[in-house]
Amino acid sequence: MADESSPTDQSDESSLPGTPLSLWLATNPETRYEPLTEPITVDVAVCGGGIVGLTAAKQLVDAGLSVAVLERDRIAAGVTGH
Ligand SMILES: Cc1cc2nc3c(=O)[nH]c(=O)nc-3n(C[C@H](O)[C@H](O)[C@H](O)COP(=O)(O)OP(=O)(O)OC[C@H]3O[C@@H](n4cnc5c(N)ncnc54)[C@H](O)[C@@H]3O)c2cc1C
Repeated sequence: MADESSPTDQSDESSLPGTPLSLWLATNPETRYEPLTEPITVDVAVCGGGIVGLTAAKQLVDAGLSVAVLERDRIAAGVTGH
């Protein structure tokens, strides 16, 4: 029978050191933007503010395009938040 206090037992997340939050969620203030209420015009609309959408948006902005990132929840809190 396994010893419940074994350091190799990972069935209980609370036994892991530190926080399960990613560095970027744990160390940055929560982003919260109001929903768009008026039509806007941009060169590119990026749907999703995860690492893929944000990287694409940054590269497009760096290339001189106007970009809107549309995120339904919190920036970088989807799969990227892990
Ligand atoms: C535990 C774990 C560990 C990982 N470790 C690694 C690693 O070590 N190295 C590595 O390269 N990869 C790793 N990955 C994979 C990597 O995290 C993902 O491939 C990457 O984060 C996916 O990014 P994404 O932008 O495609 O998706 P997401 O981060 O999920 O972003 C998509 C965003 O789109 C938004 N969205 C969805 N639908 C809509 C809509 N209709 N309107 C508006 N917004 C919408 C969501 O809210 C979300 O914020 C790991 C994944 C997990 C779960």
